[in-house]
Amino acid sequence: MKRRDLIKYLSVAPIAGAAVGTGVPLQSLAAPAAAAAKRDVIKELGLRTFINAAGTYTTMTASLMHHEVVDTIESASKHFVMINEVQDKVGEKIAAMCHAESAMVTAGCWSALVLGTAGILTRMDRKKVSLLPDLSTFDRSEVIVQKTHNVGYVHALTNTGIRVVEVETAEEMERAITGKTAMMWFLNSSGPMGKIKHEEFVAIGKKHNIPTMIDMAADVPPVENLWKYNDLGFDLVCVSGGKAICGPQSAGILMGKKDLIAAARLNAPPNGGNIGRGMKVNKEEILGMYVALDKYINTDHAAEWKMWEDRVAVIVNAATKVDGVSADVFVPPVANHTPAIKISWDQNKVKITPRQLMKNLRDGSPSVEVMGGQTGINITVFMLKNGEDKLVAKRVQQELAKAAIS
Ligand SMILES: *Cc1c(COP(=O)(O)O)cnc(C)c1O
Repeated sequence: MKRRDLIKYLSVAPIAGAAVGTGVPLQSLAAPAAAAAKRDVIKELGLRTFINAAGTYTTMTASLMHHEVVDTIESASKHFVMINEVQDKVGEKIAAMCHAESAMVTAGCWSALVLGTAGILTRMDRKKVSLLPDLSTFDRSEVIVQKTHNVGYVHALTNTGIRVVEVETAEEMERAITGKTAMMWFLNSSGPMGKIKHEEFVAIGKKHNIPTMIDMAADVPPVENLWKYNDLGFDLVCVSGGKAICGPQSAGILMGKKDLIAAARLNAPPNGGNIGRGMKVNKEEILGMYVALDKYINTDHAAEWKMWEDRVAVIVNAATKVDGVSADVFVPPVANHTPAIKISWDQNKVKITPRQLMKNLRDGSPSVEVMGGQTGINITVFMLKNGEDKLVAKRVQQELAKAAIS
């Protein structure tokens, strides 16, 4: 009998009463059936699952939580606690792990950017908190950003009402600092592109007493980055929780100076009448984030890297068995710093476009997601589950071989 039917049956049939009457506990009737038919909502709704050989993309739900994190979420869900006390305790732990004075769990790195900026603008002034994003009465409402760092993520900052002031050189930056300057923002993934490097950026901030913030959302590994930018002297550091750290996908971390974290929290839930009220993080996510970070920091990173290299080798070997196919292994210098593969092919020997190959991989069984460009496909291996490297290798080889001209 299906569980649905059993429940229906129990609710209409006199058996429930009869069972109690005969001394047979009702639980003993329902429990085995319930355990046997654990609800699988993904299946029930017909959702496509896939092997993630693309990377930690929000649209693909980014990363999978480890069982320790899911266990934490499950056990935390059974209790009421005060959310501020959860943030206090977890914040202390995260701060200690990452060499910061203080920390909080936010609704993703984006939310860390908004709340950190808001805190810098308002400090502990509740009147100011209530005014954001209207900064017309604020003395300081500008954020200095290097031109090469001024990309889409800046929208997290402009949410608070600030105006971005673009600069290119250190001299320009010093000249741009006025009584209106609230903050200076550094996008770590654009670090190699900008003229002003971390140390000089922080030094200028300190010299002029302007707080500095760094967005290093996707920039672990290496794990040391979790404390490197606090050690360097950035006043606020923003990280994604649900990328390589494999925390809850909707969580992130804001860490840094104690007074600025306190001010950011004034702009965040559970407080209302502020810009951050919609960026709620529940106790399960806050505690899950803490456990994910703890696990991530204590991972054997060298062994993990070796495992990634082994996976890369499996896929490269299979793909390049097809005549005309070549594979380049590369490691992005900043952000998603893990071994990745670019597979390309001689269009005269293998008649398929990257787009068509991506579609075939997606539509195949098992479904595989990769990234693609004009001249080939890109594969990462850090989001694969054990054994999936072989499946990806097989599917890529099959599709390329199918398109090969014999
Ligand atoms: C992913 C990302 C964000 C947003 O992070 P979420 O954790 O998804 O909110 C912000 N900045 C950069 C550079 C990112 O890569």
